[in-house]
Amino acid sequence: MSPQTSNKPQTIVDRIRAYRQGDTLPSVVLAAYLETTRSREPEVHAYIDIFEDVASQAERADDLVKEGRFEGMPLLGIPLATKSNILIKGKRATACSKMLENYIAPYDATVIERLRKAGAIFVGSTNMDEFAMGSSTEKSYFGPTHNPHDLARVPGGTSGGSAAAVAMESVPGAIGTDTGGSVRQPASFCGIVGLKPTYGAVSRYGVIAMGSSLDQVGPLAHTVADAEILYDVIRGVDPYDSTTYPDGVYPVVDTKDTYHIGVPRDFLRKGIDPDVLARFEASLEALAKAGHTIVDISLPYMEKGLAAYYITVFAEISSNLARYDGMRYGLHVPGKDLLCDYLETRREGFGKEVRRRILLGAYVLSSGYYDAYYRKAEIVRTLMREELAAAYRDVDIIVTPTVPTPAYKIGEKEDPLSMYLGDIYTVPVNLTGVPALSVPMGTVDRDGKSLPVGIQFIGPHAGEARLFDIGKRFQGEQ
Ligand code: GLN
Repeated sequence: MSPQTSNKPQTIVDRIRAYRQGDTLPSVVLAAYLETTRSREPEVHAYIDIFEDVASQAERADDLVKEGRFEGMPLLGIPLATKSNILIKGKRATACSKMLENYIAPYDATVIERLRKAGAIFVGSTNMDEFAMGSSTEKSYFGPTHNPHDLARVPGGTSGGSAAAVAMESVPGAIGTDTGGSVRQPASFCGIVGLKPTYGAVSRYGVIAMGSSLDQVGPLAHTVADAEILYDVIRGVDPYDSTTYPDGVYPVVDTKDTYHIGVPRDFLRKGIDPDVLARFEASLEALAKAGHTIVDISLPYMEKGLAAYYITVFAEISSNLARYDGMRYGLHVPGKDLLCDYLETRREGFGKEVRRRILLGAYVLSSGYYDAYYRKAEIVRTLMREELAAAYRDVDIIVTPTVPTPAYKIGEKEDPLSMYLGDIYTVPVNLTGVPALSVPMGTVDRDGKSLPVGIQFIGPHAGEARLFDIGKRFQGEQ
């Protein structure tokens, strides 16, 4: 039995309705999802661990559903997958690194606590690029995840396991993290919806840090409505993360009957796949037909985003990953003295991409080079923010394709720079702290397979409601 009854995947909204109507129970729904997982997981490899207590979680949810206790539990009985860099007490939190291969989380991340309170069932932890560095989920210590739409291709990354888990319908929703596109880009490659919330909308407490000024936790799901339900549960101020903001800090961003949608044309010209561009143009036409006004805008600093991102994120990685010293967390490789302990542990515990980034990050922060690189990146970041704020005086939403290409083949992008280029449309969003939503905009054909591609709606700070509104309408209108 598959949880899919027609071609349209069952959504969180569908499941909740069925529970409320007394049509089914969480343990029945979970059993169907686990069946799908058993058949597809061996070829997709979306998961690192499937939790042993998943059945007992579902039984508890059954009791609550039978008692009709839906109040305050918007996710009662909903199975979810979570990325392996998010702490769940008593479970492994590996960040898919050898360094944390056997690291057991001592507490729940705030997002986990909130999802648990809302009634979610945690099915398992998903595969990712080591410490969330990459764009393809090929750089996991546990081996790559395959794209459910074409097993020869990558699912995107770094939340590729979470995206693949949803796309292969082993769960109706999942949680990922997005530092430079890691929720939106795999959503695009896997044909699902992914949200990067406004910086500070969601707590990072209990999330293994990569770039602290860029990281945000975000939902992945089949529909915008489902992503919204997940977001509403995880968002909100948290005393354990001082970068979370309470309501009222940003001006209210309202929804409208029709929007002014800005298209940064110049920014779209370079390196984009012609088929992706064609899908994007068709999407713009659909939006115009639905009554929205499409305007060309110019965002010259956005093009500098990639350079600024890859300096800023390396710098933050080098300082965040200094904590893995062989003493405090995870792996310990004994050397002949304390310094050798550090060196041996870090040499053995980190993969190549992680070591590359730590080295380059230490370099851009070193005296003499700090002004030339890190400070310049910070200046560009400020200019990008100002440029965006000015643009939002004229438009309500900005759109781009989420990624310039469809999913590529596993092993195709060996050269790190060519992989970094794929992040061109997603990183400006993290650098400026605004929210963005990736929604499927159809497919392109490659080698006889239909590969999904996504459109990215970018909102002003705290503009999630507007993104959900346009996203739901776009998804409904396609
Ligand atoms: N691809 C980007 C990087 O490699 C973003 C990764 C992420 O969002 N975690 O840094």
